[in-house]
Amino acid sequence: MKTCPKCKQTMEADGFRKDASRKDGLSFYCKQCGNAYAKTMRRKHPKPYPSVLGYRKPVGAVRKETNRQRMIAKYGIDFVETQDSMTDSSDERFG
Ligand SMILES: [Zn+2]
Repeated sequence: MKTCPKCKQTMEADGFRKDASRKDGLSFYCKQCGNAYAKTMRRKHPKPYPSVLGYRKPVGAVRKETNRQRMIAKYGIDFVETQDSMTDSSDERFG
């Protein structure tokens, strides 16, 4: 018999997961509390790589976005806006 410190329920060993790293060979919380805890952790810390779920930014788009962030950080300007204004002025000159 073992008491779960979370739900305070005393139950047979089969109510607990096996955990070889613990002295009594059983996990700290009962199976039910262990499951609830795992679920909470999953919600709090979702998988950091959305690519696993099937949506991934195209590599080109990511690279462009990174360049833009770098330009903004370095020069305090928006890379895309600058490119647009440059195109505009050259059109004026040659058009
Ligand atoms: Zn419990």
